[in-house]
Amino acid sequence: MPAMKNTSQKKSAPHVETHFDNEISPVVVKRWPRRRGEKLRAWDGADRFLLNAFSERFVDCAPGQINVVVVNDSCGAVALPLIASGHHVKSIGDSWMSREALVVNARDNETDLTHWTSLWPFDLLEAHTFDSAAPTCVLMRIPKDLGFFEYQLQQLATQLPAQATLIFGGMDKHMPNSTMKIVEKYFLEPAMSLGKFKAHLIVATSGKIDIPKLAEITPLKVPGLGGVVQGMPGVFASQQLDIGARFLLPHIPEPEEGDNAIRNIADVGCGNGVLGLLAAQRDINANVYFCDESAMALHAAQHNAKHIFPQRSFHFHHNNGLDGLDVKFDLMLLNPPFHRGHAVDTGVAEMLIQHCARHIAPKGRMLMVANRHLAYGPMLKRNGFSARLVDQNEKFIVLDARIK
Ligand code: SAM
Repeated sequence: MPAMKNTSQKKSAPHVETHFDNEISPVVVKRWPRRRGEKLRAWDGADRFLLNAFSERFVDCAPGQINVVVVNDSCGAVALPLIASGHHVKSIGDSWMSREALVVNARDNETDLTHWTSLWPFDLLEAHTFDSAAPTCVLMRIPKDLGFFEYQLQQLATQLPAQATLIFGGMDKHMPNSTMKIVEKYFLEPAMSLGKFKAHLIVATSGKIDIPKLAEITPLKVPGLGGVVQGMPGVFASQQLDIGARFLLPHIPEPEEGDNAIRNIADVGCGNGVLGLLAAQRDINANVYFCDESAMALHAAQHNAKHIFPQRSFHFHHNNGLDGLDVKFDLMLLNPPFHRGHAVDTGVAEMLIQHCARHIAPKGRMLMVANRHLAYGPMLKRNGFSARLVDQNEKFIVLDARIK
């Protein structure tokens, strides 16, 4: 007799596979920050394909006898199996969260990170020792932002030894048609693989002589700001001012007349720093903190702050949200992200709102611009804020939120 279905049983949360079986060394990989009910896996077919291609090509190279560079690894899925099998790996990436994911996953897998080096995209690769007698292999995930991809290719092309093997990987659904053309500009003999695991690879070699210069990014005019803002590759809205940010800018307050208190202001998820820079101009005595998890974003914000306010000093906080800061803020500015990689996800926005709730001064305000189709009102409420609608148009709302 067939077993009776237990209709009263609760549906269990979908299980996300964390065991990453691959050709180098199986590992457990999870996203970071760890979230209950996480729905997104921490690796994909392109990670597996990259490791597969590495093991086929370098089967005869003993760990430690090859220079391995891993670029844009999102949670350590590419680097960790290599490190676990004894390779010395340099990881290059923009994201604090990705770097943290690798460190936490390494701890969970009991993987020793002694021979692992972590670099931000603008760090000089050549300053970090390469064994010149050993072959070099770069395994790179193709980033979403092709301007950033070119920036990274330029960096690699000018710094790698000749004859290095580069293997670029991307999922088919995210690989733009122009990828091959871009690789061709910086590397020799690029060749596209056959597809596998719903991904493709491009393999190329370093040593091109005529490496093109990067196209200049046009500086942005920010209404009300006495100076232009320079965008940088990989930074949100580097080519033009974000329309959400533009909508929030006029609402950034000046200090009230007669109030000479020195305020702490946070630009949370600062990107190139537009919001914090305007706040700094409107409140010339304020301590302004620019916070972002993207290294390139902070690099841009730092450059812009130095350029527009050469006499002032600011704080630049590279971390997940406001983690690691022991400051209460009188004014917090937030234009939250609502994507994680290619997926729409308001989880990061909610986490940043929670950070703001923890770091807001008793009479502080958080000014936030939000896409009106996303449910930020209830999100603010469940995190202790009461919000007043300050402005709206067909796409955005501006909220002035205070702790109840
Ligand atoms: N404030 C800028 C503006 O208005 O143009 C950028 C806003 S953009 C929508 C969101 C920013 O949040 C990005 O720069 C992104 O790197 C940053 N971000 C995403 N996740 C973050 C996190 N966990 N901690 C800090 N910043 C984060």
